[in-house]
Amino acid sequence: MAKGRIFSGMQPSGNFHMGNYQVLTNWIKLQEEYNCVYSIVDWHALTSSYENTSKLPERIENMALDWFSAGLDPEKNIIFIQSHVKEHAELHLLLSMMTPLSWLERVPTYKDKLQQLGEMGKEINTYGFLGYPELMAADIMLYKADAVPVAEDQIPHLELTREIVRRFANIYKPVFPEPQAILSPLLPGIDGRKMSKSYGNEIPYAAESDELHSRVRLMVTDPKRIKKTDPGDPDICTVYTFHKIFSPEQNEIAVHCRNAGIGCVDCKKRLAEKMVSTLADVHGRRKELSLKPGKIKEILAYGAERARKLASATMDEVKSVMNLG
Ligand code: SF4
Repeated sequence: MAKGRIFSGMQPSGNFHMGNYQVLTNWIKLQEEYNCVYSIVDWHALTSSYENTSKLPERIENMALDWFSAGLDPEKNIIFIQSHVKEHAELHLLLSMMTPLSWLERVPTYKDKLQQLGEMGKEINTYGFLGYPELMAADIMLYKADAVPVAEDQIPHLELTREIVRRFANIYKPVFPEPQAILSPLLPGIDGRKMSKSYGNEIPYAAESDELHSRVRLMVTDPKRIKKTDPGDPDICTVYTFHKIFSPEQNEIAVHCRNAGIGCVDCKKRLAEKMVSTLADVHGRRKELSLKPGKIKEILAYGAERARKLASATMDEVKSVMNLG
C-alpha cells in the first residue's frame, strides 16, 4: 500500500527547547511510516514578529542544524524553507478569497494570543496575524497531506483546514484530501505547564550537563508522594513524561515508582544522566555540521526543489478548477 503524506512545520523563533526536540523525535518516527514534508516556516514567524527580521537568517540556519543533528533525514523527507516555495503564498491568497472572516476570528487561540502578545507590547492586530491559520491551511493543502502531527491545542487549526478543504470542493471541485490529525503529546515544562520561554519553565535544547541536572532537580513530581516510602503515580509526574522520551528502561522506572522502590531524587538523577548522554551525541553532531554551512544550504535547496515540484503540480490543478490562466 502506498504511504500517506504528512506535512508539518516549525517557526524559526530562536527559542529551541526540549519541547521542540520532542516534536522532532516524533517526526523522526513518522519518517519511517509516511512520506513527510517538513518546513521551516519563516513566513509564519513574521505573523507575530515582523518588525525586526535581522536575526531571521541565523535562526533559520540554527533550526536546520537542530533538525539534522537530531536525526531528521533529508533523503527520507522533503525538508525546506517555506519562503523558498512561493506557491505557499499563491495558495494562501486564493484560499483567502473564499474563507469567511468569522472562521478565522473564531479560532480559539487567535484572541488569546492577540491579548497575550499585546500585553507584551507587540502590535499584532494585523491582517497577517489573523490569517495565520489560513497560511497553515495552505501549507498543508499544497502537498495534499493526508495527515498532520498536531498537539491537542492545534486541533482547531486543523479543523479549519478541513473546513476550507470542504468549502473548496463545494465551490469548485474536490482537489484536496481532508487531513487527519496524528495526535502528538506535548512535553511539559518543569512546572508541569506547557513548555514555553514566557513561563520560564523550559529546558533549552543547548543545555549542558550542569544546567540539565539543575533544571531536572526543579521538576514537579507526583504531589501525593511526600515520603520515599509513599507509592507514586508516574502517569501524573513530569519527570516520568521525560523518562518516556529518554529512558529505554521507562517501564522498570514506572514499576519502581509505583512500589516505592525508587525515590524521586534518584529518579531525577537517572533522568538527568540519560538526557546528558543523549544530548551529548546530538550536540556533537550539531557542532560538526555547523562547520559546514554550505552543506546545510545545499540540503535545503534540494528540499525546496523537491517541494516545488509537488507544489506546482497542485497549483496547476487549483488554477484549472478555478479557471485561472
Ligand atoms: Fe516521578 Fe520518579 Fe518520583 Fe515516580 S519516582 S513520582 S516517576 S520522580
